[in-house]
Amino acid sequence: MDAADPLAPLRDHFVRPPGPYSGGLIYLDGNSLGMLPHASAAASADLVTRQWGERLIRSWNEGWIDAPERIGGLIAPLVGAAPDEVIVCDSTSVNLFKAIVAGLREAGRRDPRRRVVLSEAGNFHTDLHIAAGAVGCVPGAELRVVARDELAAALADDVAILLLTHVHYKSGERFAMAEWTARAQAAGALMLWDLSHSAGAVAVDLDGAGADLAVGCGYKYLNGGPGAPAFLFVARRWQAVLANPLSGWMGHAAPFAFTDDYAPAAGMKRWLTGTPPLLAMQALESGLALWRDVDMAAVEAKSAALFDILFAAGERAGLECVTPRDPAARGSHIGFRHPQAYALIQALIARGIVGDFRAPDVARFGLTPLTLSHEELWLAGEALVEVIAAREWDRPAFRERAAVT
Ligand SMILES: *Cc1c(COP(=O)(O)O)cnc(C)c1O
Repeated sequence: MDAADPLAPLRDHFVRPPGPYSGGLIYLDGNSLGMLPHASAAASADLVTRQWGERLIRSWNEGWIDAPERIGGLIAPLVGAAPDEVIVCDSTSVNLFKAIVAGLREAGRRDPRRRVVLSEAGNFHTDLHIAAGAVGCVPGAELRVVARDELAAALADDVAILLLTHVHYKSGERFAMAEWTARAQAAGALMLWDLSHSAGAVAVDLDGAGADLAVGCGYKYLNGGPGAPAFLFVARRWQAVLANPLSGWMGHAAPFAFTDDYAPAAGMKRWLTGTPPLLAMQALESGLALWRDVDMAAVEAKSAALFDILFAAGERAGLECVTPRDPAARGSHIGFRHPQAYALIQALIARGIVGDFRAPDVARFGLTPLTLSHEELWLAGEALVEVIAAREWDRPAFRERAAVT
């Protein structure tokens, strides 16, 4: 399978950490923090020593000031958007805040009854926390959180925004984007997608689905580095209508006119708030360069093959898989339930296989087609079977929880 893999050459573009296997460490956590591309290390060094060290403030006019839009343009094809519909800035959390407040205000202006943000119970917690904070900033607004199978019924005529995470961070379940977007809009609501576990994981077609708004993460499948800036998508038809509630100078039509009154920039630039973090933007840009010629159909096909290898091992180990079997109904990770899932992950890490734990009982493994081989999944699966059979996880040291799981 590795010999026939069209994505196999991409592996050589990533730094391989040392580990006990012939290929080094087996890293099944690229869905949480993507691996370091060789090119990013060199490009970051250039940014520090030459662009900052030598060019200093002149660098702003030598590519820095346009970085948010330029890098947004690199993400656009991965999410089915036009290059002028995506901008890179802030964190996913902050972009969620901006999108929710902007959407609530616009929906309420058109129809004062529309004041609810509807989302899923068990959504990634920052989405719910930010939505709770955002509704607090809009008089009369309210957050409604219901179980996944009650979402459709909860789309009442007071809903302003349906906020869904496309691929669930824990189970890996994937919403059908076109169907849910159409359902939300038929109910009169705006559709806001969180693509944190989708961008670079599965084929996404925001414009094909007619989505209104979306946000997503730069440090997971896109390999942008720890704390990489996030992205924001605003459909072209909303760009002149919606207003960024965090109206900072970088989103001003003329930031260097230094006027007292705020006038939003045209296009996506108005979603900027403060000065872009260039060190982090550079790492994201070089990570994205690797995606330029990648065919998302090949990514999905390889993800499915990697899934099958680990799923079969999980079955042999007697583990319950929490991720859907149907590739179209999931993202690009696999989760197994185990009462001591944290200790299980620690035991695998001790063997040079890195996955992660999601409370309360899920052992999660990222299937990143750009960085993994089929052989690595097979080796990880064999190790999983052995660790379960020998109860290798059952040691006090493996139960001591670190701050980041
Ligand atoms: C990882 C993730 C985030 C990250 O938010 P940040 O503010 O960028 O740290 C947000 N939402 C989801 C669904 C995620 O998986």
